[in-house]
Amino acid sequence: MMKTRELKRTLEFEGIGVHSGKGVRCRLLPDTSFRGVRFLLPGGPPRLADPFTASTPNSTVLEWKGERVATVEHLLAVLHLLRYRRVMVEVQGGELPILDGSALPYFEALSDPAVFSPGEEEDSGPFPSPLRVQEGEGWAEYSPGGPFRVEYGIRFPHPAIGELTWRGEINEETFGREIAPARTFGFLKQAQELRKRGLALGASLENTIVLDDQGPLSPLRFPDEYVRHKVLDLLGDLFYLGGGLTGVWRVFRGGHSLHLALVRGLLALPSGPLASGAPPSQGGA
Ligand SMILES: [Zn+2]
Repeated sequence: MMKTRELKRTLEFEGIGVHSGKGVRCRLLPDTSFRGVRFLLPGGPPRLADPFTASTPNSTVLEWKGERVATVEHLLAVLHLLRYRRVMVEVQGGELPILDGSALPYFEALSDPAVFSPGEEEDSGPFPSPLRVQEGEGWAEYSPGGPFRVEYGIRFPHPAIGELTWRGEINEETFGREIAPARTFGFLKQAQELRKRGLALGASLENTIVLDDQGPLSPLRFPDEYVRHKVLDLLGDLFYLGGGLTGVWRVFRGGHSLHLALVRGLLALPSGPLASGAPPSQGGA
């Protein structure tokens, strides 16, 4: 059995959308009428976040019939890791604020004992079957058993990155210290192309590690901050499993689309929650 958390009061985050470049706002509200996490957009009914939504290589976008919320992964990583339930995420501006580019502001706010109370005990055991998915040179695999552990490898043909691996057990303490502060990163060379596609319009040195041909244009928080941020993005994409914060998760050259392929695959396994007819716990009423 695992202890969950519920919000005691409303939290508000304001900033800019890294992709839209516009001012955006989100409020997290206690939601006693629903056991999971839902999204509320202006004028719409509450929406469930599930993994069968659109995703782009640059952020995870939730989409429901014309309504969309972009860049949800950093907040969802924190809500998932801290096992928050009964939360309504009210979004104005179609995107969550990028803040400093990491999950640290969300983590600091949501791990403050003044904002939560203990929720119900939850029986969210591990996913019993292993699974591996592959996309091009990238792969992601899950092996059940043991505490929640991530091994993540990246390879970028850039002199400041090259090949980096992060390995470790993830719990509230290690997440807050080693993963939550890691910021998103991007390449100056690609910025123009992204902007033409209407992406990264809000990216700046305030919220992104920007690399030119030589290296980062601002100081790093960790020498391997890039791969730590990929671990953060993975955790955000594992949110849709509802629980399952156990076992070993290995990814090489991953991204949102590969993470989501692993999540969808696990949910659809004969031993997974979709096959048994029971929704993942985030989706349960
Ligand atoms: Zn990210």
